[in-house]
Amino acid sequence: MSGTTQDDYTDRYARRVRGMTTSEIRALFAVASRPEVVSLAGGSPYIAALPLDAVGEMLGKLAAEQGTTSLQYGIGQGTVELRERICEVMALSGIHDASPDDVVVTVGGQQALDLIARLFLDPGDVVLAEGPTYVGALGVFQAAQAQVRHVAMDADGLIPAALVEAIAATGGRAKFLYTIPTYQNPAGVTLSEARREEILDICAAHGLLVVEDDPYGMLSFEGDAPLPLRARRRDGVFYVSTFSKTFAPGLRVGWILTPHAVREKLVMASEAMILCPSAFAQGAVTQYLSTMPWREQIKVYREVYRERRDALLSALEDMMPAGTSWTTPAGGLFVWATLPEGLDSKAMMPRAIAARVAYVPGTGFYADGVGTQNMRLNFSFSSPERLREGVRRLSGVMEQELAMRSLFGPELGDRRRRTAGAADVPGPDLA
Ligand code: PMP
Repeated sequence: MSGTTQDDYTDRYARRVRGMTTSEIRALFAVASRPEVVSLAGGSPYIAALPLDAVGEMLGKLAAEQGTTSLQYGIGQGTVELRERICEVMALSGIHDASPDDVVVTVGGQQALDLIARLFLDPGDVVLAEGPTYVGALGVFQAAQAQVRHVAMDADGLIPAALVEAIAATGGRAKFLYTIPTYQNPAGVTLSEARREEILDICAAHGLLVVEDDPYGMLSFEGDAPLPLRARRRDGVFYVSTFSKTFAPGLRVGWILTPHAVREKLVMASEAMILCPSAFAQGAVTQYLSTMPWREQIKVYREVYRERRDALLSALEDMMPAGTSWTTPAGGLFVWATLPEGLDSKAMMPRAIAARVAYVPGTGFYADGVGTQNMRLNFSFSSPERLREGVRRLSGVMEQELAMRSLFGPELGDRRRRTAGAADVPGPDLA
């Protein structure tokens, strides 16, 4: 098959691959990673805040002193040592009744979501999810050929009445609610204390499983986060988290805390996919949690991100054109902005890249093409000065777009919107 083109494969793809579309945005992201571009687009933690020398020494020892196990195959569920440590980490978030037996170690939170989708979703099944939601979860549900129905949020997170409506509208066919209740990606909002019980009650009353995705709960800027849903209810709740944001995403270690009855099936599905999670990465996380001041490191990340959030918010306050609004996250990595009437974040992207600033257009976070008036802005990766410079460039582009619209009318934006492509599939820039 040498010399074949992409077209030669088209008829051979499985049906689930047909939903895997990409868009022109991806090409722009390749440019966005150049150093001269201020990227507000990614979801990358600020890894330079880690004590890299000490981590390096620890990794060296892991190979030299424990190589016969750390470089060997392991068991599908993950090592007992790490699963015990994970229970200690969850206790810090308020989940005190977790057994290491019900923890399945995964290749990041991303594989955890994929495993749950493999276990529960048939083609055509319905998943309820916040609108907007995590782009990587949309990719997983799309690959499972499921349909996502979005449930509206406000500043207090998922709206209970909207959830009831969505359940009714899908005729009770939804398999689960996928939710990121704390410091949500991309919206930066948190489900309020008062609503947490209500949401759980609604799901229980309708027999709806809950997949709680909680990568950001420990990255709070103002006091502790509300208790996770899983700390309030065991039955029917799958809790997914990761070391990507509290330690390092490069190790690709996450986990699921599963209802006991499902654990074996999850392990079998994971073994079919990867045999076992990386013994070396698990050893690294176990060593990190056993020998290094990881709780202090989380405090360091919180301080760095709080300062960066404040820098981004004050820059937005100072420079955004009238009619722009944004969320004020109490933790996590993202601000969600709503542009003035008539601006289209996706159509504006090439102009923004030319002005050397990047963001993720809101459409990437919806399964149904809405979100043209929104954008996600990341504040974890760039310094406060770079964030301010990024907002300065962005506001300049928006002012220009607004001026063009007032000169040439709204058709300009509409014509461009018609050329906009399909939903963005997840990639590192969209994490
Ligand atoms: N869930 C959410 C909400 C995320 O934002 C991310 C990463 N950005 C993940 C899951 C997956 O992260 P990882 O695979 O690195 O653990």
